[in-house]
Amino acid sequence: MNNNAIQLRSVSRTYGAGGSAVTALDQVSLAFPKGSFTAVMGPSGSGKSTLLQCAAGLDRPTSGSVTVGDTELSKLSETKLTLLRRDRIGFVFQAFNLLPSLTAEQNVALPLRLAGRRPSKAQVREVLTQVGLGERARHRPTEMSGGQQQRVALARALITRPEVLFGDEPTGALDSQTSREVLTMLRTMVDATGQTIIMVTHDPVAASYADRVVFLVDGRVNDELLRPSADEIAGRMTKLEAVPC
Ligand code: ADP
Repeated sequence: MNNNAIQLRSVSRTYGAGGSAVTALDQVSLAFPKGSFTAVMGPSGSGKSTLLQCAAGLDRPTSGSVTVGDTELSKLSETKLTLLRRDRIGFVFQAFNLLPSLTAEQNVALPLRLAGRRPSKAQVREVLTQVGLGERARHRPTEMSGGQQQRVALARALITRPEVLFGDEPTGALDSQTSREVLTMLRTMVDATGQTIIMVTHDPVAASYADRVVFLVDGRVNDELLRPSADEIAGRMTKLEAVPC
């Protein structure tokens, strides 16, 4: 039995070739246990996006391996990889990416419809209730606050019951009060349902909701902190950003 939702083994990702090659990730090994909440931080250009894209099967490493559950991604064809992303992985981004002409429940049902499945009304209502929007199912995004729209995006990511939920600055477009609501919701999903979450963020307060904060510098894991406070995270970031290139 594999207890990790995602495992990276010696993952490197190089862009370009020859003298102009850039090593975005340099032999990164990281395990993300099932039911854990990890924040990934680091200065701009440290490899956070590349890590997220490789871990989520959106990009292929130049070397090393990524495993989702017991499935090694490098062994999959593009089609199988697309299906794995669709069925087993959820995404939330800074931009909510909702379709404005669709209601909340239609937006949430979309991933299953695109997969050729017909979600039941009860299934859609259940995830909307999970994010506290059971009463808003018929509203369109323009009739909702930013926080509510991000919760619809969260419900849309959860409708497929993904093994792992990836967030790329999911609270980046929200004010601090609304961010806290969304982060509390993410935390509750981990604690109550054992959801695994991996979130890239610049925000020490957002990262403080995680069980573990992984710091990247120059494509390598520089450090990690377990259940740190926002102040500890901010202090660590200040030190990392002061490191001369
Ligand atoms: P972060 O998300 O921490 O800002 P990225 O993963 O975006 O870092 O980038 C890591 C490094 O890889 C940077 O030096 C960046 O310029 C480079 N990089 C990222 N994507 C590409 C690309 N498509 N082509 C060339 N270089 C890239």
